[in-house]
Amino acid sequence: MASALERQDPAVYAAVVGEERRLREHIQLIPSENYPSAAVLEANGSVMTQKYAEGYPGYRFYQGCRWVDEVEDLARRRARSLFKAGRANVQPHSGSAANMAVYFAALEPGDTVLALDLASGGHLTHGDPVNFSAQLYNFVHYGVDPEMEQIDFDQVARLAREHRPKMIVTGATAYPRFWDYARFKEIADDVGAVHLADMAHVAGLVAGGVHPSPVSYAQYVTSTTHKTLRGPRGGLILCQRELRAEVNRALFPGIQGGPLEHVIAAKAVMFHEAAQPAFADYARAVVDNCAVLAETLLSEGLTLVSGGTDNHLLLVRFPDDGPTGRVAAAALEEAGIVVNKNKVPFDTKSAFVTSGIRMGSPAATTFGFRADEFRTIGRLIARVLRNLDDDAVPAAVAAEVRELASAVAARREREETWPSLFTPHEAVTPALV
Ligand SMILES: *Cc1c(COP(=O)(O)O)cnc(C)c1O
Repeated sequence: MASALERQDPAVYAAVVGEERRLREHIQLIPSENYPSAAVLEANGSVMTQKYAEGYPGYRFYQGCRWVDEVEDLARRRARSLFKAGRANVQPHSGSAANMAVYFAALEPGDTVLALDLASGGHLTHGDPVNFSAQLYNFVHYGVDPEMEQIDFDQVARLAREHRPKMIVTGATAYPRFWDYARFKEIADDVGAVHLADMAHVAGLVAGGVHPSPVSYAQYVTSTTHKTLRGPRGGLILCQRELRAEVNRALFPGIQGGPLEHVIAAKAVMFHEAAQPAFADYARAVVDNCAVLAETLLSEGLTLVSGGTDNHLLLVRFPDDGPTGRVAAAALEEAGIVVNKNKVPFDTKSAFVTSGIRMGSPAATTFGFRADEFRTIGRLIARVLRNLDDDAVPAAVAAEVRELASAVAARREREETWPSLFTPHEAVTPALV
C-alpha cells in the first residue's frame, strides 16, 4: 500500500525519497549532521506535534497536557542524568535559541562577552557581526595561536583582564581539539565572569565519555541535540539548580511560544539511547575513525588545521595558490562525498569562498563505516582534490563511493547494528521498486 504522503502529495513524497537515496548513496562527512535512529524519527513524526503546551510540565497555560507533561519530564530527567547536570530545559527549538535564552538570562544589552572568533571556529551566535548576538552585546574575541592553531590561553587571560567580560563563552563549530574547560573556569572566576559552555558539536562525545564534560566548570551549558548526540533537530540548556528560574523565563515566554513536544519526545528517546553502553562505543569509534581519516589525509600530503584532531572533526587548509573551499567542496559532492567549505584560522577569504573544508566522522560512523573504510574515504578525497581540473575524476570516484556505501549498508543490515536507522520508502512501497 502506498503511504499517505505518496497518495496525497507526490511532489513532497518524491523529495523525501530523493533525500533518502542521497543519504544512502553519498558519504555524509558534514560533522554537524548525523542519522537519527528509527525510534527517534518515529517519536519526531508522532501526534505530539499537535499539542499546544506553553509553560513547563505541571505549570501549563493549556489543558490536555497529561502526556506531553509526561514526555517532557522524562526528557528533562534523562538529560540531567546523562550529563550529571543540575537542571535541564529541553524546549529550545535550536542551538541558537538555547544560546539566545542564556544571553537573555545572564546579560543586559551592551554587556561584554568574550568568545572564540569565527575564523578560529566560533559560531554565528558567538558574536558574528551579522547575528543578533553582536547587535545586542559587545563581543570581544579570543583566537588560536598562529603556530599551533590551538586556543591561546595567554590571550584569553589578557583579554579577560582587559575587558572584564560579564560572560566567557567556550565551544565552537569548527575546532578540532579538546576544550580545557577547567582553565576557562579559572580565568572566568578571576574576572568575575560567568561561563557558558556551548557544547553543540561535542555533546555526544561528552555523553560517550571521550571528551571532557563542561558541566562542573560552567554555570550554563548549551547544546544542539542533532549533531554528535544523534537526536532530532533542536536545542538544550543545562544549568545550575539556582539559575533554573531565570533560564526558563528567558526561553519561555522570553523568546519562544509553544514548545515542539514531538521533538521533545524524540529528544527523550535520544537521551535514553545516549545513556547506553553501546553509545559510548559509538562515541569512541567516531573519534578513532576521525583520527584514521586525519592520518590518511596527512599521509596524502594535505595540511590540517592544528596538525590533526582530538575529536569528531578536522579542517583541511588549502595553500594560498591552492583551490578554494568552495571549489573543493563542490567537486567532492560531485564525487558523492559531502563535506562543507569552512573558514580556517586567519583566513582572508569570505565565508562563502574560504580557504578550507571541514569534515567529520559522526554520520558515516552511524551509517556503519569502519576504520579501514575511513582510510579508503581519505584516499578518495585526496584523489578528487589532486585532480580538480580533470572532469572525469568525480564521476569515477562517485561510482566507487556508491559501491562502498552499498557494501557497508548491506553489512549493517546483516549484522543488525544498533540502533536501527530509517527504512527507505522504496523498501516499504512496492510501487517504486
Ligand atoms: C550548531 C551550533 C549552534 C547552533 O545550532 P542551530 O541548531 O543550528 O541553531 C550553536 N553553537 C554551536 C557551537 C554550534 O556548533
